[in-house]
Amino acid sequence: RSTRGVPRLRMAVRSSAISAVPPILTKIQKDCATPLPVLRHVSDSMSADIRAGLAVDGGSDLQMILSYVDSLPTGNEKGLFYALDLGGTNFRVLRIQLGGKDERVIATEFEQVSIPQELMFATSEELLDFIASVLANFAQKEGGKFHLPPGRKREIGFTFSFPVKQTSIDSGILIKWTKGFAVSGTAGKDVVACLNEAMDRKGLDMRVSAMVNDTVGTLAGARYWDDDVMVAVILGTGTNACYVERMDAIPKLQGEFSPSGRTIVNLEWGAFSKGLPLTVFDRDMDAASINPGEQIFEKTISGMYLGEIARRALLSMAEEGSLFGESVPKKLSTPFVLRTPDLSAMQQDNTDDLQTVGSILYDVAEVESNLNSRKVVLEVCDTIVRRAGRLAGAGIVGILQKIEDDSKGTIFGKRTVKPPIQSHTVEAKSNNKSNLSQYFQHCNDHGWRLVRTLPQYRRYLKESVTELLGPETSHHIVIEHSKDGSGIGAALLAATNSKYDHNY
Ligand code: BGC
Ligand code: MG
Repeated sequence: RSTRGVPRLRMAVRSSAISAVPPILTKIQKDCATPLPVLRHVSDSMSADIRAGLAVDGGSDLQMILSYVDSLPTGNEKGLFYALDLGGTNFRVLRIQLGGKDERVIATEFEQVSIPQELMFATSEELLDFIASVLANFAQKEGGKFHLPPGRKREIGFTFSFPVKQTSIDSGILIKWTKGFAVSGTAGKDVVACLNEAMDRKGLDMRVSAMVNDTVGTLAGARYWDDDVMVAVILGTGTNACYVERMDAIPKLQGEFSPSGRTIVNLEWGAFSKGLPLTVFDRDMDAASINPGEQIFEKTISGMYLGEIARRALLSMAEEGSLFGESVPKKLSTPFVLRTPDLSAMQQDNTDDLQTVGSILYDVAEVESNLNSRKVVLEVCDTIVRRAGRLAGAGIVGILQKIEDDSKGTIFGKRTVKPPIQSHTVEAKSNNKSNLSQYFQHCNDHGWRLVRTLPQYRRYLKESVTELLGPETSHHIVIEHSKDGSGIGAALLAATNSKYDHNY
C-alpha cells in the first residue's frame, strides 16, 4: 500500500500550482503512473521474455537476435576502416585510422547528413543509392593521416539499426522497418547484398566486413575503452538493447560455438509489450502509425514518439477542456508537429512566467498560452517523460536480473563454468562482489539524444533503477553515455572481422 501512496501524494503537491486541474490531465497521470509494482512487473517480464526468446525463435516478443559478434575489440586493431550508420534521423559516414595497442585511434573523420524525408518512403534502391553516393563522395576526400596498403579494398562496418535476421557477421535479412521508415523492397532481402549493388551502381569498390545493429556497435565501441561493459542501450529515435551472453545459455543456438564461449545478443526490446501503463493517446497514436500493434515499448519510451503523445494529449485538452481558450489551435492537429526536442526545451524553462514554454508552443503550433495553460503543458510533458525514463530503467534492470540469475552458482560460484570465462575483469571482480557490480551499462545518446538532452529522462531512469535494485546494488551499476555511439564500434568490428592481416 505504501508504495501506491507515493505517486499520488506527489501528484497532489505538484498539481496544486495549476488552477483548476483539467480532468484529462488527472487521467493521464493516473494512466502513466509507474509505482514500484508496475516497474517490477516490467522488469520481471523483460527477464522472462529474454529467456523465452533465447529458448526458441518466436518464443516471446523479444527476438533475441544473434549478432554473430563473438569477439569484441581488444585495442590491438590496426589499419584504415570505414563505418556507415543508418538508422534514425541522420545518416553518418566515418573513417578511422587505428594504430594498435599504443597508438589506438590515430585519426577519425566523419560526415553526417539528415535523411531526406521522402527517402524514408522511397524504394530500397533510392535509399541505398543515396547512401552509396554520400559514401562515395566522402571516400574521395580521404587523405592526410589515412592510409590503405596497396592492393586492398576499403572495409566497412555497417551499422544498420533495424531488426535484421543475421545470417553471418556480414549478411542478414531485414525483418521489418521501424521508426517511421517505410521503404519498399528491402524487407526479406539481404541488406548487405542490396548495399553492395548500390555501391556497384556508383562504381564504388568497398567491402562490408561487418553489419551490426547500433546497440552492438555501441557495445563494441564502449568495450574498446572499457572491458567491463556488458550491456548497451540505445535511447534515441528508437530504442533497443544488447548484452553479452554465454553461448551455453542460448538453447536455440544448437551446436554452434565461439572460442570465447560468448556472443552478443540483440534483444530488439522495442517490441516488448507486457504490463506497460498506457493511455488512450498511446493507443490512438499506435493505431494511426505505419506499424500498428508493433514496437509498443519503443512507442512508449523513445524519442520519436514522446512529443507526439504529448501533442495528442494537449489537443484533446484543447478540444474537450478549452485548454488554450475557446478555439482549438489549428496546427495542433498536425501529427508530429510537437517533437521530443521541443518537450526537452520546454522542460528546461526556469523563468517565472514560463516564457520558453510559451514561445515554443507558439513557434511549433501557433498556440497562444497563458501561465496556467503552460503549467498544464509542462505537467503533461513531465508525466510522459517520467513514464518513459522509469520504464527504460525497468527494462535495463530486467536485463541485469537475467544475467545475475544465470550467473549465480556459475560465474560467481564454485561450479565449473563451461567454457572458462574469458574476461579476467569479470573473474577478478566476482571474487569480492557477488552481485551486479561488474555489469556496466551504457546508454548511448544519439538520434534525438534522449538521455543527454533530457536531464529529466536520465534522472527518472536512474531513479527507477535505484527503486528496483535498492541503493546498495544500484550503486554498483554504472550508467553512462558512450562517447562515440555506434560508428566507431562498427569500424572496430570491421577490423575484428577483416579479411586481411593487419599486422603490417
Ligand atoms: C530498431 C532497433 C534499433 C533501435 C535503436 C529500433 O526501432 O528496431 O534495431 O536498435 O531502433 O536505433
Ligand atoms: Mg542511430
